Amino acid sequence: MDSSQFRQAAHAAIDQIVDYYDNIRDRRVLSDVEPGYLRQLLPEGIPQTGEKWEDIQKDIEAKIMPGMTHWQSPNFLAFFPSNSSFPGILGDMYSAAFSCAAFNWQCSPAVTELETIVLDNVAKLINLPEEYHSTSEGGGVIHGTASEAIVTVIVAARDRYIARSRERWAAEGLNEDEVEDRVCTLRGKMVALGSDQAHSSTKKGAIIAGVRFETIETKIGDYALNGELVQRKIENLESRGLVPFYITVTLGTTPTCATDDFASISTTLQTYHTANPTAPKIWAHIDAAYAGAALILPEYSHIPTIFPTFADSFDFNMHKWLLTNFDCSCLYVRRRRDLIDALSITPAYLRNEYSDRGLVTDYRDWQIPLGRRFRSLKAWFVTRTFGVDGLRAHIRKGIEGGEAFTQLLQGDKERYTLVAEPAFALNVFRVNPPPKLAQNIKDDKKEYARLSNEVTRKVGERVNKEGKIFITPTVLGKGEEAITAIRVVGGAPAIQVDDLRSAFGIITEVVDKVWE
Ligand code: PLP
Repeated sequence: MDSSQFRQAAHAAIDQIVDYYDNIRDRRVLSDVEPGYLRQLLPEGIPQTGEKWEDIQKDIEAKIMPGMTHWQSPNFLAFFPSNSSFPGILGDMYSAAFSCAAFNWQCSPAVTELETIVLDNVAKLINLPEEYHSTSEGGGVIHGTASEAIVTVIVAARDRYIARSRERWAAEGLNEDEVEDRVCTLRGKMVALGSDQAHSSTKKGAIIAGVRFETIETKIGDYALNGELVQRKIENLESRGLVPFYITVTLGTTPTCATDDFASISTTLQTYHTANPTAPKIWAHIDAAYAGAALILPEYSHIPTIFPTFADSFDFNMHKWLLTNFDCSCLYVRRRRDLIDALSITPAYLRNEYSDRGLVTDYRDWQIPLGRRFRSLKAWFVTRTFGVDGLRAHIRKGIEGGEAFTQLLQGDKERYTLVAEPAFALNVFRVNPPPKLAQNIKDDKKEYARLSNEVTRKVGERVNKEGKIFITPTVLGKGEEAITAIRVVGGAPAIQVDDLRSAFGIITEVVDKVWE
């Protein structure tokens, strides 16, 4: 493909993409192909001689589209959103065009410098305190996903804990061998913590980092971690000779969008650190993957002011709810040195005078891979194009849609019961058993819950099978107390409050069919 062919192909691709967005509402939101569908449609292997773009492009509609679930559709109400926008797409186009693996400053100074500037601006946008800005000892870096951010901070937390322990034992007069023996023993005892509602990426991060992982159970209906629960867990670990070194605290959990009680957790951690002055500090990470975007609204901007009292790091995905297409996870740390100490290795071929003189940021030391994409471009384009007002209007629209949906649920108590406090545009509810059955079993709570679980599961499955909207059936809790529920969350840029109202109508029609 030469440059004039590229120009023509790119125009055709853009036309197709714009048409896709303009008409996305008309497509079935959830793909209904069977596993293995694509192999049957594609020829074996790579063609011997190259093909024309017109032929390749035709396969987008004919072969790829049937297997696409349309996350940008206003009928997509599942999981959490994965926003895209035209300025975001343009950012990724330029990133692809430059295609630089800008792992250190010298590899493309603009990539590093724009990332620092954009992340400081985003920090101000979400009212993240000064401690996490690059102008202090902290700073932000763009990772691909919240999971990647979590495994990275677990590694940094682990290494910081071990480094501080080494210093302490050396100061106590232990020789090198004795310190190494202690470190080996310590490694086997280190525990990363998260609540039973924390995203599975904390467990995965602990597995990758080679440390133990334990969950802290939250109360049914509340689903939030608090200081008392953390304290009890720490005491329990200590009584078993184990060592807590890391905890994930969540703003907007995946199942119900619950927010952990930052104030009491902060108090517990501070009390623990004061009582154990020689022990290294527990690293607290705030995972705000989805709900962090809401911090741009003035009504939520008080939330981050408490972070510096306990949190070493904070992460949220601009690619979930902030109009920036996948991937753009913004990780902030209070002390960039912690990341660099854990992750910096500089062989001769990566040395250069700017890095050696400490004049520049080398983001390769803030992440696990070496190479990195020019992701700040899309965040820059998005924030400039929408402006603070446009971004806030987008989040508000999502929240208003969620509130409208809550009102509809609350107005139909015969059919629905909310099972968690609605938050950040997410509603989690169960479907009640059919009234004629409910009447007979109203005093038998167990049977009522069993029937409600069954009806809710059937409704969730049937709604998704019909494919007019896509919602997430889920299970909260476990064992006899497990609650089958449905999660509905808007947030796609194209969604309007009326889309949520019509989704409610679609779900209600299905409930009536399942009740029959
Ligand atoms: N944390 C929370 C609270 C989430 O809801 C999710 C995904 O939805 C994640 C982490 C993982 O996100 P990612 O796909 O960016 O790794």
